[in-house]
Amino acid sequence: MKKAFILAISCICILISCTEPQKKEVVIKYAEEPHSFAQPNNAVITHLNLDVDVNFDAQVISGTANYNIANNGASEIILDAKYLEIEEVKADGENTPFTLGDMDKNLGQPLIIAIEENTKQIAITYKTTAKTEALQWLNAQQTADKTNPFLFTQGQAILTRTWIPIQDSPQIRITYDATVKVPENLMAVMSAENPKEKAADGIYHFKMVQPIPAYLIALAIGDIEYKAISNRTGVYAEKSMLKKVHAEFSDMEKMVLAAENLYGAYDWDQFDIIVLPPSFPFGGMENPRLTFATPTVIAGDKSLTSLVAHELAHSWSGNLVTNATWNDFWLNEGFTVYFEIRIMEALYGKERANMLALIGRQDLDDELEALKDNPNDTKLKLNLKGRNPDDGMNSIAYDKGYLFLRTLEEKVGREKMDAFLKAYFKKNAFSTTNTEDFNDYLHTNLLEKNNISFNTEEWIYKPGVPENAAIIQSDAFANVEKTLQAFIDTKEIDATTTKEWTPQEWVHFVRNFPKDITAEQMQQLDDAFNFTASTNSYISMVWFEQSILNGYHGHEVDAKISEFLNTVGRRWYVTTLFRAFKNADRIEDGLTIYKTARANYHSVTANTVDELLGYHN
Ligand SMILES: [Zn+2]
Repeated sequence: MKKAFILAISCICILISCTEPQKKEVVIKYAEEPHSFAQPNNAVITHLNLDVDVNFDAQVISGTANYNIANNGASEIILDAKYLEIEEVKADGENTPFTLGDMDKNLGQPLIIAIEENTKQIAITYKTTAKTEALQWLNAQQTADKTNPFLFTQGQAILTRTWIPIQDSPQIRITYDATVKVPENLMAVMSAENPKEKAADGIYHFKMVQPIPAYLIALAIGDIEYKAISNRTGVYAEKSMLKKVHAEFSDMEKMVLAAENLYGAYDWDQFDIIVLPPSFPFGGMENPRLTFATPTVIAGDKSLTSLVAHELAHSWSGNLVTNATWNDFWLNEGFTVYFEIRIMEALYGKERANMLALIGRQDLDDELEALKDNPNDTKLKLNLKGRNPDDGMNSIAYDKGYLFLRTLEEKVGREKMDAFLKAYFKKNAFSTTNTEDFNDYLHTNLLEKNNISFNTEEWIYKPGVPENAAIIQSDAFANVEKTLQAFIDTKEIDATTTKEWTPQEWVHFVRNFPKDITAEQMQQLDDAFNFTASTNSYISMVWFEQSILNGYHGHEVDAKISEFLNTVGRRWYVTTLFRAFKNADRIEDGLTIYKTARANYHSVTANTVDELLGYHN
């Protein structure tokens, strides 16, 4: 087996506690890591005990991060920190010298702490600052109930270091427990064992017994309540949302069963979802035991719940078997999209699965077009050294990764593919893997074993999409295209053919408008189908994009676009619309909206839009 980095020193043996009471000894060799200052082959954290106070008035988290460490004879341990105020550091209870190195705009600073050869614990007293990138503090007006403030964290890719000093590399897994003090009327939840009721004193205790990388440590605080779906699934949401959220996600247990049926037991005990306020920057974030989700998927008809299947799939690909570095991000996301679509197929049939796959294929083609001047960024294996790993979080990892696995499945057959994936998850459970190791494993355990030749290297290491890519077909979408063409040809639309359409079919219809569609035709479609007033966020988003691109201003669509961008902070939606303003030569209109909307966005969304619009705060 190839290794990116051969250790000159003997490797560190650390104890990792799993769900079983017995402890098992795991040998870890850490490969070179482009996005962390930590030197885990010298000294590594193994367990975090976090004790913090959350002050909403000052918008500060302060307290102490206590770590158990494994030391390989080093005289210092290096953590990652960004925009933190470090007050004091102790080693085994005694004050110890520390320094913060030079600031790198992506990585932050190395926090270098002096230790002895036999140091077992370090304790860092610190507070967050106004510049923190992980935390989004929301005032009451930015929530659903509008009576209490809210706070959530977003750790992926390298933001956990902006609210906890930590060794922030996906290769380093730790267990954690935490004590979090919040205002008495609010509830705190984490990616851990969670409370189901509010604590009268506002003090919450958490325990995460499965080892996880730092980017999966997550915290949300708000006036939220819990409602169970089954004995291991349920939802957290603000009071006014709880019933709707519970109904929307009522298939959660069925999804867990379908997933287990495919790739083995769910290893994280509990699978809950918290629906956050609309500024949450992603569709969902797979924080273990507690997925964080955008309210934009609450459509009232379960039509956008493939998001739940996606985040659930991450319980295997990503959380159980983690990409070693962000250059291997496709191992997290490509596998997860593949698994998501398999879960959706198991629950709702092949047609729905193929519609999702085809939407992804169109996203991929759009991304390839957008990256046509940067072909290296269209490889599955990325090189993000010296860059923000966020640059690699696009459709290539997700949809090209999916297409690779789907093409492979069609080549080897589903039965062999599933047996292979099941064994892969089992072998690498609670550890990390990189692209090279995966490729070796694939060759040995699937291709050579069955005497199958496949252009794996071209898929992984070459730009673009290879010629043997699976062709995905959907009868439903073919019918949508026919209906659209008939409208373009005859200027008339037959509403009987569209009566039973799912939101995915509507999305496909709108996204495929010809480039020369006129504002008049759009007006006609809006009159017939009320797109501007749609309550499905996905349909709204693609309709607004077309409205901007095609100069359609009717039916108060401009006001709706402005309202949408001032409320929703989901990065995919927001960047799609601002990019449309840019491409339509209406960047000034985009900037006018952005100036007020930006305050509602989490830093990961704001950073992307700043760059897109050339905006300087
Ligand atoms: Zn994902």
